Amino acid sequence: MRIQPQQRVYDVCIVGSGAGGGMAAYALTKAGAEVIVLEAGRPWDNATDSAMLTWPYESPRRGSSTRERPFGEFDACIGGWDLPGEPFTRAPGTEFSWWRARMVGGRTNHWGRISLRFGPYDFKRRSRDGLGDDWPIAYEDVAPYYDKVDRLIGVFGSKENLPNEPNGVFLPPPRPRCHELLVKQAADRLRVTCIPSRLSILTRPLNGRVACHYCGQCNRGCKVNANFTATNVLIAPALATGKLTLVTNAMAREVTVDPGGRASGVAYVDKTTGTDRHVRAKVVVLAASALESARLLLNSRSSLSPNGLANVSGTVGKYITDTTGTDVAGFIPKMVDHVPHNHDGVGGMHLYMPWWLDNKTLDFPRGYHIEVWGGTHLPGYGFMGGIHRYPSGGGYGKQLKDDYRRYYGATIGFSGRGEMIPNDDTYCELDPRTVDQWGIPVLRFHWKWTDHEYKQVKHMQETFRALVAEMGGEVFSPMPTAERGYGIAAGGTIIHELGGTRMGDDPKTSVTNRWGQAHGCKNLFVADGGPFVSQADKNPTWTILALSMRTSEYIADQAKKGGV
Ligand SMILES: Cc1cc2nc3c(=O)[nH]c(=O)nc-3n(C[C@H](O)[C@H](O)[C@H](O)COP(=O)(O)OP(=O)(O)OC[C@H]3O[C@@H](n4cnc5c(N)ncnc54)[C@H](O)[C@@H]3O)c2cc1C
Ligand code: SF4
Repeated sequence: MRIQPQQRVYDVCIVGSGAGGGMAAYALTKAGAEVIVLEAGRPWDNATDSAMLTWPYESPRRGSSTRERPFGEFDACIGGWDLPGEPFTRAPGTEFSWWRARMVGGRTNHWGRISLRFGPYDFKRRSRDGLGDDWPIAYEDVAPYYDKVDRLIGVFGSKENLPNEPNGVFLPPPRPRCHELLVKQAADRLRVTCIPSRLSILTRPLNGRVACHYCGQCNRGCKVNANFTATNVLIAPALATGKLTLVTNAMAREVTVDPGGRASGVAYVDKTTGTDRHVRAKVVVLAASALESARLLLNSRSSLSPNGLANVSGTVGKYITDTTGTDVAGFIPKMVDHVPHNHDGVGGMHLYMPWWLDNKTLDFPRGYHIEVWGGTHLPGYGFMGGIHRYPSGGGYGKQLKDDYRRYYGATIGFSGRGEMIPNDDTYCELDPRTVDQWGIPVLRFHWKWTDHEYKQVKHMQETFRALVAEMGGEVFSPMPTAERGYGIAAGGTIIHELGGTRMGDDPKTSVTNRWGQAHGCKNLFVADGGPFVSQADKNPTWTILALSMRTSEYIADQAKKGGV
């Protein structure tokens, strides 16, 4: 392999430009560092590339999915479960899928924008129930960064003063829509806490960005940048400082080290030419997404670190988790033949249900939150598939069209998103036999749910069915059996993978310290979901952003003191 070296030495080389990498690029360039970002995917700009306000009839495919856009042709995110030339493997018996974005901004181009802080309990779970491990930091260490992220990016919500759902610096939330009011009434009757959702979408202008005009198409990318993407809200201002060099189509292969064991830069493949290149930097920040950062470390082997860089503990790739999940949808007769009304809103739910119960009264640890969907959102290609499941549904011609009009909006669904506890049988490692198209060894996954997760998902199913019944509705599917894991989604499919480079004070059991700094390699950091010690019953990205900002400020501070 002939590597084309570059002479320039950057202050910082960041791998990946999603939530973690985008924030690191933003914070470090603002702090005055000369930064280079290596991004494996393509360039993207919401203002010019988004399919916002495109009608289905404007495409011969009507918006149906493509290989590089499995969530639909108009979806903003280029990537998928199955990337050509970039396989991963599964150990026998493992069910696991891995969604990877390949574009500037990563998965923040189409994420749901549910922007929840972890709460005080989430950082100290072992102390509370004896399972998993505590983080080496507490909520109070991250709170100032959550505040700064709220003010910088913008998030709407309401101050509820709940013990483990901290208040934020919120913009006003949008009002619930008709179907959401029905959900709220049912939840109140069942004593399930139901509050305004918390999404990173601007309901008021903020920091030069305009407010949302409620077209409901957030997943297509917002042409006016009223919602958060790392692309336009972090990378674009970082570029405007003149201190960021953004290299797209740059697939990092490994972190290189000098004879003293310090990171010296990153070797990468220029995907447009297939050429191997090397970038030199004083500090390296991995933010390629949790599992890909673990892969990079495992692939960074040298005589000094034969098992991979920062892997003296042998825990790189260990303690990985995904959110638990299951869904239930129902037909709600009250929504049939409704009076036409304004149903505009953001591209996401206006209400949600945070975890509301005490585990001491339940047969499983940890909790879940409930996401709400349905109602009369803009119909897309294939919408209301399965109309035969509605009363008198199905058929042909006029009757079918009339049924579509009558039943349009009469479906309401719930998705549970819960906390998985890391276990020894769930991890990733390098597959000794399989490489990707550039010859880089790929990850092999091992995945196992335990009774903790199965029982939690059973509870989700029962709760969602009770909610549908309380609304006077009918559930579309029977209760999944224990043999089917009560309908638990396969590992990875909720797309909240975390861990693999977890933080800790003890270098024997963790990969990074409390700052995301690799034990034993002071100028190497991880700034994505890798350093997470545990999941929570919250989506992870607001915490990835806050921790990346915290790590970046630490790097800037240490650089001044000569500490990295
Ligand atoms: C459909 C969907 C909905 C979601 N909804 C929510 C939600 O509502 N709330 C929430 O909190 N989270 C949500 N998530 C998860 C959220 O998107 C991720 O947690 C977040 O984007 C992770 O940030 P990251 O920087 O670690 O990784 P990413 O955003 O994936 O960015 C990683 C970047 O690194 C690049 N990269 C990877 N490997 C390499 C390499 N070897 N060399 C160079 N570059 C590389 C990738 O191309 C990518 O651009 C959702 C995800 C999806 C897909
Ligand atoms: S709903 Fe609002 S934030 Fe989302 S794409 Fe439309 S204008 Fe942008």
